[in-house]
Amino acid sequence: MIQKLVQSKIKSILKIRNSDSNKGTFGHALLIVGSKGKMGAAVISAKACLRSGVGLLTLDVPSKERAIVQISIPEAMVIDRKNKEIDFTFFSAIGIGSGIGITKNTQDILIQLLEEYKQPLVIDADALNIISSNKKLLKKIPKGTILTPHTKEFDRLFGDHIATEERIKSAVKKAKELNCIIVLKGHKTVITNGTETFQNTTGNAGLAKGGSGDALTGMITAFLASNYTPFESAKLGVYLHGFAADYTLKKQSMESMLITDVIENIGYSFK
Ligand code: AMP
Ligand code: MG
Repeated sequence: MIQKLVQSKIKSILKIRNSDSNKGTFGHALLIVGSKGKMGAAVISAKACLRSGVGLLTLDVPSKERAIVQISIPEAMVIDRKNKEIDFTFFSAIGIGSGIGITKNTQDILIQLLEEYKQPLVIDADALNIISSNKKLLKKIPKGTILTPHTKEFDRLFGDHIATEERIKSAVKKAKELNCIIVLKGHKTVITNGTETFQNTTGNAGLAKGGSGDALTGMITAFLASNYTPFESAKLGVYLHGFAADYTLKKQSMESMLITDVIENIGYSFK
């Protein structure tokens, strides 16, 4: 049975921020995002992550591109993509994939991450495509990892599907098999852990633009870093991302809205 992901369910998950909390309370996230010509994906996912309550954020970007993120996001720290000495286990949550491209370097980083990091990850975009071209990596995904494919990425990973119902059934089966959370993105995003399945009730076609998924990855990574469970993190991210997009329509149209406008309204979603 597919349950509707409605506001009452989100309210029951959201934790109140204690007045005596500090930045350590909300974790340190790492986002491995962006590449030459796709640094917008890095900026978008970082801003969405920071707007979703994370304590600290570090961005892993190519060294030549670091000025872009240092200048546009002063709240984030930056490390060099080529640095092989990074201790991934230091981070409370890691999101990988938005705008990284498929290169020997990004393949190596994903493989290193899957070897060394045993906590749940958020895997999106080109990191999913890297796994699609090397399916043996599926077995290495840490338990509780959140995969966020849109329909094409899902079909590349798990085979072609024609009907939406069939794709949802496959998502449930694969989530169970892999012990992970699958966020099957689209008009009514489906979130499943293989046992329970939810369909989102927020969001609109104004999100049908480049960058929307990058923001979602940042949001889910923030929730995971702040100690929500992987399933809770996926539900919070998907619902609040869609809610911010719906609120954006108060002043914008679906045609005109930008994902950066949506990110500015994440605060309203929390309220
Ligand atoms: P991506 O394709 O990776 O950029 O992800 C697109 C994001 O926008 C996902 O979170 C989708 O659920 C959302 N989205 C795209 N099109 C629509 C739509 N027509 N209605 C609601 N949400 C959408
Ligand atoms: Mg995407």
